[in-house]
Amino acid sequence: MKQQINKKQTPKKPRQSIRHDVVSAADYNKYIMPWACEDCTHYNSTTQLCTLGYSTKWHNREYQRHTFELSGKMALCRFQEID
Ligand code: SF4
Repeated sequence: MKQQINKKQTPKKPRQSIRHDVVSAADYNKYIMPWACEDCTHYNSTTQLCTLGYSTKWHNREYQRHTFELSGKMALCRFQEID
């Protein structure tokens, strides 16, 4: 009985994995979309790091292209800025 009460009071765990969004294949082929770190204002091309401190592992061009070709999805960064 005590365990059931504790289970109900436990807050929902935060999401641990990166979110991948569906990208239309027609849009991917038709438009030149700035969806990678390499297109972002916050990307330092010398160090290949994000100046905001985020991991570029999930949003670099090679990873984006690879995941799109495998699943039709991309891990689009919510903090990307384009000049
Ligand atoms: S803000 Fe996002 S897209 Fe821009 S460099 Fe950092 S991780 Fe990459």
